Amino acid sequence: MGHLVSINPATGEELARYPVFDAGQIQSCIAQAHERFQSYRRIPFAQRSAWLKRVAGILEERKAEFGRLISLEMGKTLASAVAEVEKSAWVCRYYAEEAEGFLAERSIASDASRSGIRYQPLGVILAVMPWNFPFWQVFRCAAPALMAGNTLLLKHASNVPQSALTLEQIFREGGFPPGVFQTLLITAAQVAEVVADERVRGAALTGSEAAGSSLARLAGQHLKKTVLELGGSDPFIVLPSADLEAAVATAVTARLINNGQSCIAAKRFILHRAIAEPFTAAMTERFRRLKVGDPLDPQTDVGPLATPSILQEVDGQVQALVQAGAKVHIGGSPLGGNFYPPTILSDIPPDHPVAHQEVFGPVALLFTVPDVSAAIELANNTPFGLGASAWTTDPEEQERLLEELEAGSVFINGMVKSDPRLPFGGIKRSGYGRELSREGILEFVNVKTIWVK
Ligand code: NAP
Repeated sequence: MGHLVSINPATGEELARYPVFDAGQIQSCIAQAHERFQSYRRIPFAQRSAWLKRVAGILEERKAEFGRLISLEMGKTLASAVAEVEKSAWVCRYYAEEAEGFLAERSIASDASRSGIRYQPLGVILAVMPWNFPFWQVFRCAAPALMAGNTLLLKHASNVPQSALTLEQIFREGGFPPGVFQTLLITAAQVAEVVADERVRGAALTGSEAAGSSLARLAGQHLKKTVLELGGSDPFIVLPSADLEAAVATAVTARLINNGQSCIAAKRFILHRAIAEPFTAAMTERFRRLKVGDPLDPQTDVGPLATPSILQEVDGQVQALVQAGAKVHIGGSPLGGNFYPPTILSDIPPDHPVAHQEVFGPVALLFTVPDVSAAIELANNTPFGLGASAWTTDPEEQERLLEELEAGSVFINGMVKSDPRLPFGGIKRSGYGRELSREGILEFVNVKTIWVK
């Protein structure tokens, strides 16, 4: 059996390695999760909530330590890693407070003397998670799943095994009994074995289209419920009435968040021709001022990409666009190691294959359009449908954008972001199902109809 290896992407240094679980270890974890479910499902909400609040407390108290771990393992800046830990505490507190109300029995009048809905947990849920937000992605899946009374098995991305093991530790320290949350140190190929097991009742995956499609195929074969949060190529539309300074400042953050490796990062900037020139000049100027370097240095704005293969893919996409005639305003070639500079490209042929792909790095693709109709058409001309941000102060345009943009969420005059109180998810090839809010906790429950006469 091989190992899962944690490598600092800023230096290439190996930080830790762990043997991959064998079939016996996987079986024993599934058995423990299933057995624990029988008692855990009967634990009152108040107790689960107390444990989850303790988990939130641990995250808040030790955010510097966990932030450093995240930053070392996948390269995001220390400040953003600490913010990720704080946000993880927020989602724990949110579901600790709200879950009981979301899952309260509902009465519905019918021909029965008593009828309605009772919400019950499903059992063991598998969470297949990505490395880009090693804590947040796991907590936003685990907090509702555990509050609903399910038990959880985590298969984290293979480049963040230290985070994966730390997460299990945090749930144990919070008071959750053994078996409620377990980390499986397994490869992507071993996911099939877990999904096929009858005791596993559902699976959530956040990651690429390829991984989502593979999990959905397996889950289909074994008739398991899935939630898929996949890639995105979010549009960021700027129309003439927008507050240009605010739009440019937000565009920079929205593209470069997480060193450019976020599913909901703005990736395609669709600019009305009346503002395209000043917008491009201002964005280029802001990119020029950013410092690329050591993610632990507080002065750094953009750290390394998480792995050499991500850098190669991003650079390949940039070179393909340049060869097709794209103009490079800034950046455009690797800086050495895993570092890639903030890059802006314009004059992109709209039908070039890369224009329809997700660029998972600090690269902004700029397009110019003559009017709002063309902006919407170009924005929707993508296989993805995760988020969309549009900037205009015209109420009619705002309404049209809210109505016509094909995405799981549309933000007007703001950056697309996740918030525990609002549903999060996509349409088209960005996946299906929702996380967060009431919608998120309903994904892995039995909506049981009850009828008594
Ligand atoms: P990835 O390669 O798809 O990996 C995600 C997870 O899936 C990892 O745990 C990975 O394990 C596992 N995996 C890969 N192939 C699999 C397969 N065939 N069967 C089962 N599991 C498999 O994605 P990534 O590069 O880590 O993350 C980047 C992608 O995630 C981007 O496309 C991004 O947009 C998306 N993302 C989406 C959201 C959202 O909410 N919509 C949020 C964050 C990220 P290994 O590491 O062992 O391969």
